[in-house]
Order: sequence, then C-alpha cells, then structure tokens
Amino acid sequence: MDLRYWLPRAVDVFERFGERFGPFTAHPSHRIDDAAFTPVFERFAKRLDDNYPFFHPSYAGQMVKAPHPAAVVGYVTAMLFNPNNHAAEGGPATTEMERECVASLGAMFGLKEPLGHLTTSGTMANLEALYVARQSHPDRGVAYSSECHYTHERMCHVLGMEGHRVPVDARGRIELEALERLLATGRVGTVVVTLGTTGLGAVDEVHEVLPMARRHGARVHVDAAYGGFYALLGRSADPVGLDPRPWAAVAGCDSVVVDPHKHGLQPYGCGAVLFNDPGAGRHFAHDSPYTYFTQAELHLGEISLECSRAGAAAAGLWLTLQLLPLNREGFGEMLAASRRAALRWADLLAGSDVLELYQRPDLDIVTYVPAVRPFSLLSVDAACERLLHEGMYAADDPVFLSVLRADADAFARRHPRIVRDAGAARVMRSVLIKPEAELRLDRLHARVEQLAALAAGRQ
Ligand SMILES: *Cc1c(COP(=O)(O)O)cnc(C)c1O
Repeated sequence: MDLRYWLPRAVDVFERFGERFGPFTAHPSHRIDDAAFTPVFERFAKRLDDNYPFFHPSYAGQMVKAPHPAAVVGYVTAMLFNPNNHAAEGGPATTEMERECVASLGAMFGLKEPLGHLTTSGTMANLEALYVARQSHPDRGVAYSSECHYTHERMCHVLGMEGHRVPVDARGRIELEALERLLATGRVGTVVVTLGTTGLGAVDEVHEVLPMARRHGARVHVDAAYGGFYALLGRSADPVGLDPRPWAAVAGCDSVVVDPHKHGLQPYGCGAVLFNDPGAGRHFAHDSPYTYFTQAELHLGEISLECSRAGAAAAGLWLTLQLLPLNREGFGEMLAASRRAALRWADLLAGSDVLELYQRPDLDIVTYVPAVRPFSLLSVDAACERLLHEGMYAADDPVFLSVLRADADAFARRHPRIVRDAGAARVMRSVLIKPEAELRLDRLHARVEQLAALAAGRQ
C-alpha cells in the first residue's frame, strides 16, 4: 500500500460525496491561499523532525508503532467527513463500523453478546469499567495489583472509590493469597486483572482470580489495554507457548478493555471497553435534549461517558480489520512474530556475557540489564542510564530503548546476588510491539551488546 496513491483517493471519495449537494463558496474569513500556506507548512514539517522513529525496528523502546497504512487511509478518508460517533446522526456509516468492530473485538475474547464501544483511550475505557464497578457495588472498593496501570488508582480517586493495592508474585502477577485475604474482608466489589502489564507484560492468572472473586461476590475487570490482542494466540490451537488458561477465562469476566491504538495498528485515539452483560448500559442512562433522534437502537453515546468521539477512529479500525481479520492467520500472525522475537531475544540475553535477562517475557516485553561488576543496584542503574542515552544519541546506528524502575525487592527476587546499595534501579525495557523486530533481532541484540560493553567499560 502506497500512501502517495491512496491519500489522494481519500480526497476523491469525499469530493464524490460532496458533488451530491451542489457547489458552495467557502467564507473569506478563513480562506488561505497556497502562497501563505507554503512557508508555514515548511516550518511545521521541520518541527516534526523532532521525533523518535516509532515505525522503525531500531526503535525498541515503549509500546508505540506506526499505524497501518490501511488505518491511516481509513482514518483520513472518514475524517474529511468529520463524523462524530456520539450519536448515529453524527455519522451513521462510522457508527455501524464501530458496532461491527466491537463485535469483532468481543469475539476475539469469546464474549457472546458484549455491550461496548470505542473510546479515545485505554484510560477512558478503564474509567468506564470502574464507573460500572462503582454503580454495581456502590459501597465496595476496587482491588488492583501494584503492577497495574497507574491510572486505576487515579480513576478510583476520580470516582471516589476505595482502591486496594495487592502485591505481586515473583513474575509480576497479582498475588493470589494476598488477594484472597483482601476479598475475605468484604471490602472489594471489583478486582482488576491485567493481561500484559505495562511494565513487564506480565499476564495475571485470570483463571484463578475469577472463581476466587465469584466466591466473594466480586466482579472481575480485565485490563487488556496492552496485551488484549494476544487473545488471538492464547485462545488458538497454536498459542506460541502462551498459557491458554488466563485467555480462556476472560469470557467469564465482567468487562474488558483493549487498546487498538497499541497492538491494533491504529493511530492514537482508539481504545475500547466491552461489558459481558448487555444490561450494563443501564448505568449510562441519561437524556440529551439535542441528540439521539435518528435510531431506535441505543446510540453509542447512550452507553458511554464521553460525548464527542472521532468516527474516523472507527473507520480506521474497520478498514484494517477487513484486511487483517481478528483471527490466528490475520492479526494473530503479527503477534506470533513479536512473541517469537521476544522469546528468542530472551535466549540470546541469557547466553550473553555483557547483558543479563531481567525477567523472561510473558508476552513481548523484554527486560534486561548490563552485566556490570560489581553487580549492584547503583551500578546497574548507572549502566542502564548510559545504555539508554548512548543508544539514542549515537551518530551512527542509533537504537531507541526504554527503562523501567524496579525496586530493590523486585530486583532481588529475580537476581538474588544483586548488591542492594540503593532502593531501586532502572532496568532496560524493550517492547517488541512491531513484528519487524523478528527480522531485525540479531542486529538489535548485537548493537545493544556493543553499547552495553562500551557502557560497562566506561564505569
Ligand atoms: C497503556 C495502558 C493503559 C492506558 O491506556 P491509554 O490508551 O494509554 O490511556 C491502561 N492499562 C494498561 C495495561 C496499559 O498498558
């Protein structure tokens, strides 16, 4: 797909639509001619040089990648119409596309008849799930692990709910015994589990948490903002080494959040929340004197907290899913490649003299540290800082990594011989969110080894 061919086609589609309504004149108040636009656009384009190459396999840092060209074309084409998926009268076509996307996302998790919609982000999607948690159990709080996304605690504050932080096990998963003790107090109405924590990509044992929560009358919300698309492997016959049990258990949980703007190849502005109970919409009941006139069916805005939302986001996702469907052969193959890359890199790191694997990846987030001597938190932290910096600013062959702060206990659980001369240390974190990582892995590993050797030599 060449955007130089397809982006002008977006304009064609919009013009063809416009021709049905007859010519009109743009108001002089905002008319801008090309001569005025040219220098400003040049200045603008120059400012965009100040960016990191998220699309490129030398970027192996945070959970970011370029949107798929199909998503870009879908988004841009629909954006010219500027539909608002709050209500069907804001954009009937993209509202239908959103409903179809939600059905596909639900099927990916094995949800039968989910009620759901897209959101502008995973944070908004989780806020909605926690809002329904509060409406369902107004006098009980929320349990989440110490490794869950930081916004759960924040959203509990926003909602005026009590948040309970549960410790994690040696792999970064919610600790089951601690959770059970907390549930036994009767103060928890909803447990948040994470499928792919943001730091380590750890997969909570949903299959253990779900029956435990049910015994205590609690709901379960699955935050799969990052890892959700791995359900395509976890629920398939070929899970590339994933434990299928947590993925199978999602269908029995109460709500799920997944971010198409992370693994789903979409530009930012595309999260999703799905409720297992189609009746969850009652918690959003409201009347709006200015909207909701065109359909008998519930409008998307009638089942969400947000009002205006880009119909273009639904268009981008819909178009992408026509070409790369949510099955093992479509989207699943990309995730399998990321996963294979992460496992192979973990093996290379385990055999390296200059690097040390921090934790074996559950999904595709690889964590590692330079094998410095003495092996102490202070020197590991300093070496990671150098590795991050020198990779990013290398004049030749830069490589973009990221770091994660690990506290001393977490580090020592994984590496008992670490000298505890500080309270925490940064460790290297590479999210292999792009399947291209598989094709580039040997080069990436060699480059990071080279930088780590330099960083160690300069202590
Ligand atoms: C990224 C992420 C979020 C937040 O989603 P945004 O789309 O960035 O708002 C929530 N939970 C998890 C597990 C995440 O990885």
